[in-house]
Amino acid sequence: MNAAAPTSPRQRRMHDDNGRVLLKAFTREELRDWLVQELDEKPFRADQLWSWLYIRLASSFDEMTDLSKPFRARLEERARVDALTLNSEHLAADGTRKLTWRLDQGGVIESVIIPTEDRVTLCISSQLGCAINCQFCLTAQMGLRGHLSTAEIVDQVVQARRLYGQERRITNIVFMGMGEPLHNADNVIPATRILTERKGLDLSARRVTLSTSGLIPEIERLGRETNVRLAVSLNATTNEIRDWIMPINRRYPLERLMETLERFPLKKGERITFEYVMLEGVNDSLDDARRILRLTAKIPCKINLIPFNPHPGTTFRSSAPETIEAFRAFLRAKHVNVTVRETRGDDRMAACGQLGTPGDKRPKRLDPPEPLRAQFPQGTLRLDDR
Ligand code: SAH
Repeated sequence: MNAAAPTSPRQRRMHDDNGRVLLKAFTREELRDWLVQELDEKPFRADQLWSWLYIRLASSFDEMTDLSKPFRARLEERARVDALTLNSEHLAADGTRKLTWRLDQGGVIESVIIPTEDRVTLCISSQLGCAINCQFCLTAQMGLRGHLSTAEIVDQVVQARRLYGQERRITNIVFMGMGEPLHNADNVIPATRILTERKGLDLSARRVTLSTSGLIPEIERLGRETNVRLAVSLNATTNEIRDWIMPINRRYPLERLMETLERFPLKKGERITFEYVMLEGVNDSLDDARRILRLTAKIPCKINLIPFNPHPGTTFRSSAPETIEAFRAFLRAKHVNVTVRETRGDDRMAACGQLGTPGDKRPKRLDPPEPLRAQFPQGTLRLDDR
C-alpha cells in the first residue's frame, strides 16, 4: 500500500442485487419507518418483525405466524430475512468453531466461535479481504474485495446464534475477523447499534469490541457515535518498524494515534485494549516493552500479547515462549495490565491472522528496514509462495 489512506465507502448497502430490502441492514427505528412509509403498516408491526428476526431468530417469513398472510406475502416480495448462506463449519480440537459464509455477490467470509469457561465469543468479519496490507496477516494477502453490508455483519451473529444458541449463548462479539472494521464504518456502526438493541440481540456494549489497525478519523467517529469497546493493533513501538509491518502507520503515525486515543471517550473503569503480535526479532525486545510503557502512559489500557500464528509462506516467526514471558513480566512489574492471548483454533486455520484465502493478485510485500534485512534475506514471503 502507498501512503494514501483507504477511503470509506460512505454508503450503506440496504438492498440485494434483485432490489429486495435486506431487513438486517435496518436499525429498529429504520425498520419501523420503512414499514410505515413503504408498506403502509402500523408501527407495532415493526416490533413483531424485529422480535422474529432477533429474538426468535426466524429464517423465513413463513415462520412468522402472528403476521397476517398478506403481510408476509408482501414482505416476501420486497424483503430478505437472511443475508448470508452457510458455506462450511469446522470444529477445531479445542472447541473453537470456524463458520464460513457465502456472499450473494460471490466470495466467502469467516466467523469464529470461541467458547471459554465464562463466555462465548463470536469473532466476526467486516470486509471480504482487507486493504490495510499488514505484512504478517493472511487476510491482507487477499487484498480488498468488498465491504460487507450491515446486514451481512449482523447476520453472522444471528445465524451463529441460530446454529449454536441452544448449546451456549453467544455473550461477546469481537470485530477481529477478516477486514478493517473502521474502513467500513458506514456499515459497521449501524451494525453495532443493531447488536446492542435491548429488545433484540441484546448484547451489552461492554461485550462488543471493535479492533482497528488505527484509522484516526474513524476512531474519533466511533467514540462519538457508539459505546462499544475499542481495541487497537499496536504491534510495534517505533514508526520505523510500524511503517513496515503496518503501512497504515505512514498515514497515521504512532504519536498521532496515541494522542487520539488519549482523547477517546471512556467511562469510569473502561480501558482501551492494545493488541501486540509478538514477532521474533522484530518487536519483542525489552526496549520495545519500555517504549510501550512510554507510548501508553496517559491511556487507561490493557495490553494483550498475541503469539504470532504462522500461515503458509510467511517467514515471520513467533517470539519464543520465554521471550513472551519476559516481555509480559517486564510490563507486569511496571503495573501494566497485560495478558497473553491463548492461541485458539489453529488446527483449522481459525486463529488470529489466519482467516482468508490469498488470491493470485497479492498486494505488494514491503522490504524490511535496513537493520532487519539480514533477518529476512528473502523478504517475508518465501520465494515459492510469491
Ligand atoms: N483489522 C483489524 C481487525 C483484525 S483483528 C485490526 O487490525 O485490528 C486481528 C488481530 O490479529 C489484529 O490485532 C492483528 O494484528 C492480529 N494478527 C494478524 N495476523 C496475525 C497472525 N498471523 N498471528 C497473530 N495475530 C495476528
